[in-house]
Amino acid sequence: MYDEESRRVNTMSETTREIRPRSRAALLETPDGACFPLDDGVGFLALVDRMRSDPALKVVNAARISYNKEKLTFEEGDRKLAGFLWAHGHTSPYRHSFFTFHWKAPLFVFRQAFKYQVGSTWREYAADGRSISVEAFDVMFDTDKGCSWNEISGRYVQWTPEFYVPLRMRANPSHGNKQASVELPQDFDHEGERRTMIAEYERAFELYEERIARGVAKEIARILLPQNLYTQAYWTVSLQGVLHFLSQRLKPEAQYEIRCYAGAVYELLKEDLDHLGIERATLEAGG
Ligand SMILES: Cc1cc2nc3c(=O)[nH]c(=O)nc-3n(C[C@H](O)[C@H](O)[C@H](O)COP(=O)(O)OP(=O)(O)OC[C@H]3O[C@@H](n4cnc5c(N)ncnc54)[C@H](O)[C@@H]3O)c2cc1C
Repeated sequence: MYDEESRRVNTMSETTREIRPRSRAALLETPDGACFPLDDGVGFLALVDRMRSDPALKVVNAARISYNKEKLTFEEGDRKLAGFLWAHGHTSPYRHSFFTFHWKAPLFVFRQAFKYQVGSTWREYAADGRSISVEAFDVMFDTDKGCSWNEISGRYVQWTPEFYVPLRMRANPSHGNKQASVELPQDFDHEGERRTMIAEYERAFELYEERIARGVAKEIARILLPQNLYTQAYWTVSLQGVLHFLSQRLKPEAQYEIRCYAGAVYELLKEDLDHLGIERATLEAGG
């Protein structure tokens, strides 16, 4: 679908890494500066691009334009204003900065992540030779609000056998909260369960390869692959969108694996969030 040229990171502002041409057979390599959210060292999360200007300063300047005012530097008092805006749901000033993340995660994690559609878009439009904001464009033309999630296509690419298997299994709790998971009894055979899961995905992958070797299209052969298969995607998201994601997926109710990815998103933006005065504990509490 995409040629090498169009795979280059869009010029949102400064591109933080070069996209290298790669062999068609392998999934993309780990980008520089990536975090490894899970304990297998396979999945990763990297911040590959972002807007150049200070997102915190942009928040307060976006708010101050109402009064025809602007500041050149972000000061202590501005943190208060930014916090006030967020706490009182004045979220539009948080929609002017965008970030692009490169994820490598199992399919079941993406199934949850792809639900974040709003604010997961950034496009550059020009009118009369001048750049106009995506929001203004959306309001005028009612274009769709999403979705800047782009994933490797299992129709075009033959998968590599990379699968996530938890080191420690978990149980459903005896109480009614289906979102939680708890420790299994102490004598549970985690290693034995892992061995079984590995044998299962290896067999599934063999069947996948055999089916392709018999001439069946990749788009059909893939449908029996397990949900712990690793894939990769780009996610371009506004500051508001990323905070919304963190406020839902850092919470203890979120599944452990996506919480790990949310933790990695948080770490990659920690400096910006500290600058804005947004604490991890607040996000973990859903704020
Ligand atoms: C612990 C947990 C359990 C979950 N369980 C399930 C589940 O069992 N099944 C399932 O399908 N999903 C489940 N979800 C996903 C959930 O329903 C949301 O789809 C997901 O959290 C993304 O949130 P969002 O819709 O607010 O995000 P976005 O799509 O990014 O939307 C952001 C915000 O935009 C506004 N918005 C978006 N769309 C509209 C609209 N059409 N009209 C008006 N306002 C809109 C809302 O205010 C929304 O909060 C779960 C999520 C969590 C955190």
